Amino acid sequence: MAINDLPDLRIFLAAPRGFCAGVERAILIVERAIEKYGAPVYVRHEIVHNRHVVEGLRKKGAIFVQEIDEAPDDRPIIFSAHGVPKSVPKNASKRNMIFFDATCPLVSKVHREAEHHVKKGAHIILIGHQGHPEVIGTMGQVEEGTITLVQDLADVEKLQFSDAQNLAYVSQTTLSVDDTKEIIKALQKKFPHIQNPKKEDICYATTNRQLAVKAAAAAADLLLIVGAPNSSNSLRLKDVGLKVGCKKSYLIQTADDIQWHWFDGVKNMALSAGASAPEILVQQVIDECEKRFNISVEMIKQAEENLSFKLPRGLVA
Ligand code: SF4
Repeated sequence: MAINDLPDLRIFLAAPRGFCAGVERAILIVERAIEKYGAPVYVRHEIVHNRHVVEGLRKKGAIFVQEIDEAPDDRPIIFSAHGVPKSVPKNASKRNMIFFDATCPLVSKVHREAEHHVKKGAHIILIGHQGHPEVIGTMGQVEEGTITLVQDLADVEKLQFSDAQNLAYVSQTTLSVDDTKEIIKALQKKFPHIQNPKKEDICYATTNRQLAVKAAAAAADLLLIVGAPNSSNSLRLKDVGLKVGCKKSYLIQTADDIQWHWFDGVKNMALSAGASAPEILVQQVIDECEKRFNISVEMIKQAEENLSFKLPRGLVA
């Protein structure tokens, strides 16, 4: 117990954490579009999966819609970082709308891969989560019937192709690195001739955040991940914590979601944030902890990140 009578709490702060280059670019695209065209600017789907970010942009003049039919012809529209099926920009072009594609370039890379394989006559196995916008976007790059989704090892078991068939696999960018390795191994065992992506599809940000959480959570009795419940990469970070044996691993949207009884008997806490969660939310968690504990913060850094992506032409300052 420290002199202030508060119990001690060591916080292992994972790094890298929070915003990735794709999320920063997507937010900037919306902000620049509002600056250039005035409000409102329409955004198809949550630009990134984070309520705080979405609310902030709404206040600046963004209107979020599910489909472009809900937007008028004469206002700009932006497509989210997760990517969209080809039909979406096609329809926007038909209506002569001004549109900007905030699809992360690393998701676009998977799109081009899928297209390339289909052009060469391959059938694609997509590793991903059914219903996730990125999966819908990737499936929408190629003709129906040319891509099959697998979510886990059981789905690989059920695949009915023969190895003589021209097969290739691609994956969602935000999956668990370890689980995906297992699925790829199973695919390669079943179809030894299956083509793999030239460069890993799981992105650098997902990989680095999982590595950092692995290191931080391994020495902690509690792991808090700041992120949205529909954010794939945030959910995977929580799973990583559980896998390394941190039984109390929780996903919270903000510090308000913390249940303080989680801290009973906890001396070491690991903290990180998904790629769409802003740093201010992490800081708020630390601030709330500081009100209740005598805290010390240690950075657990596993990688250096300095990537940034260009904005679309027309929005460059
Ligand atoms: Fe791009 Fe990866 Fe960030 Fe998704 S998580 S937006 S793929 S960098």
